[in-house]
Amino acid sequence: MKKTVREDFRIVITPRRLGDLGWMSISDHMASDNIERDTRERCDEIAEQVQRHVDNVGSVEVQFTEVHTCSHCFLTWEELTAEEAADTSTRIDEHSVEGEPVCCDKAIAEFRTERGIPAEQQDGAA
Ligand SMILES: [Zn+2]
Repeated sequence: MKKTVREDFRIVITPRRLGDLGWMSISDHMASDNIERDTRERCDEIAEQVQRHVDNVGSVEVQFTEVHTCSHCFLTWEELTAEEAADTSTRIDEHSVEGEPVCCDKAIAEFRTERGIPAEQQDGAA
């Protein structure tokens, strides 16, 4: 018979949004010019306070996920696989290689310039 055992208990603390001022709420972008840095600082502060004031704490650590985005268009960063770079239905042109970004023309142009790959041919260009 299958039996469920609950173990590895943890407490998850989510920091208050930077724009949540308690008495009013504004966007995080209005509250901070560097959301990543300021949120990290807030988390480090909370972790320190928990460590200092709360009993029976084994360990406290600040965790986060990394999301890769394009600096030009802000979409999620995606790259061609070797198979996609070889496939005429998924690649941009015959110069496409594994690792080429797919989100926007600026990212593709930057990638190609860095590697000395010929620029993308625009559709309809003479
Ligand atoms: Zn992009």
